[in-house]
Amino acid sequence: MSSVPENAPNHCPGTQSEDAGKASACAGCPNQNICASGVPAGPDPALEIIKERLANVKHKIIILSGKGGVGKSTVTSLLGHALAKLNPDANVGILDADICGPSQPRVLGVSGEQVHNSGSGWSPVYVTDNLSLMSIGFLLASPDDAVIWRGPKKNGMIKQFLSEVDWGDLDYLLIDTPPGTSDEHLSVIQYLSAAGVSGAVVVTTPQEVALLDVRKEIQFCQKVGLPVLGVVENMSLFVCPNCQARSEIFPATTGGARALCAALGARLLGALPLDPLLARCCDSGADFVAELPHSPAVLALRAIVAEIVASCDRPKSS
Ligand code: ADP
Repeated sequence: MSSVPENAPNHCPGTQSEDAGKASACAGCPNQNICASGVPAGPDPALEIIKERLANVKHKIIILSGKGGVGKSTVTSLLGHALAKLNPDANVGILDADICGPSQPRVLGVSGEQVHNSGSGWSPVYVTDNLSLMSIGFLLASPDDAVIWRGPKKNGMIKQFLSEVDWGDLDYLLIDTPPGTSDEHLSVIQYLSAAGVSGAVVVTTPQEVALLDVRKEIQFCQKVGLPVLGVVENMSLFVCPNCQARSEIFPATTGGARALCAALGARLLGALPLDPLLARCCDSGADFVAELPHSPAVLALRAIVAEIVASCDRPKSS
C-alpha cells in the first residue's frame, strides 16, 4: 500500500511519516484529521504483536456499511450464529469495533456480562460453545460513555482489542465496524495489515440513497487494498405473514444491490428479507437462527454463509 494517498496535496509527507497531518502541506487536505488522529506513523510495533496474537485466527472478515441503520450489526450477529451453527466444528468470534455504538452484546443476548483479564489477555464472552464476543460495550460503565471519544482514544482501543483479546483458535473472526469510512476503519485495516484480512462484507439496503454510499465504501476498499468478499442486500423484500403478498419497503429504483454489484464487479452474496420477527429477536437478544431455522431469512442466510465460506477458501488472485 502506498503511503501517499492518491488525492494527496503537493508535498504530502505520506501517511507513514511522523509529520503526517502536521506538515504545512497538510493544511486544507481532506485527510488531515485522519492522518493526525493517531493512526500509527511508521511501522508500529503493534502490527507484529497483533499478527502474533491473531496467528491462530484463520479468516478475519471486516463488516462494513455505507450508512447506519441498514442492518450491519444485525447481519454480523446473524452471520456469527449461522457460521457457528452450520459448521459446528468451527470456532467463530465477533469483535464489536463499533466503538461509539456497540450493539453486539444486546443483539447476542449477553449484555451485562463481564470480560476477564488474565495473564493471557482479555477473555471474550461466550455466546454459545463456539461463538465468542468482545465488545467495548462490556468495558463501559454506561452505554453512553464512548460517544464523545476522539480519534486517538478510539484508535488506542482498537489497537488494544486487536492485540490483547485471547480468542484461542478461531476459524472466523467477524469485525463489526461503525458505518461509513472513518478513522476506525483505517485503524483496523492498518493494524491488521501484517496479520492479513480475508476481506470485507458490505451490508446495504436496496434503495439508491443507501447504494450511493456502498459505491464509496467499495472504492474505499479498493484504495486501501482490502478485498471485497461481496455485498449483502438487507431488508430486500417484505413478505406479509398473513396474506403472503410481497412488498418492497425500500424500492430498488436503480436495480438494487444486484445492479450495483454488476456495475462494480463485486459479488452479490445474497439478499435478506425484512422480517419483523428477526427485529424482535435482535431486540431481545434471542438467537433467530435457532428459533426460526426454516424462515425465509435463515434460508437466505445459509446461502450467504456458504458464499462467504467459499470466498474465504478461494485462493487469492492478488
Ligand atoms: P446498523 O448496524 O446498520 O446501524 P442495525 O443492525 O442496528 O443497523 O439494524 C437497525 C434496525 O433494523 C434494528 O432494529 C434491527 O433489528 C432492524 N433490522 C435489521 N435487519 C433487519 C431485517 N432483515 N428484518 C427486520 N429488521 C431488521
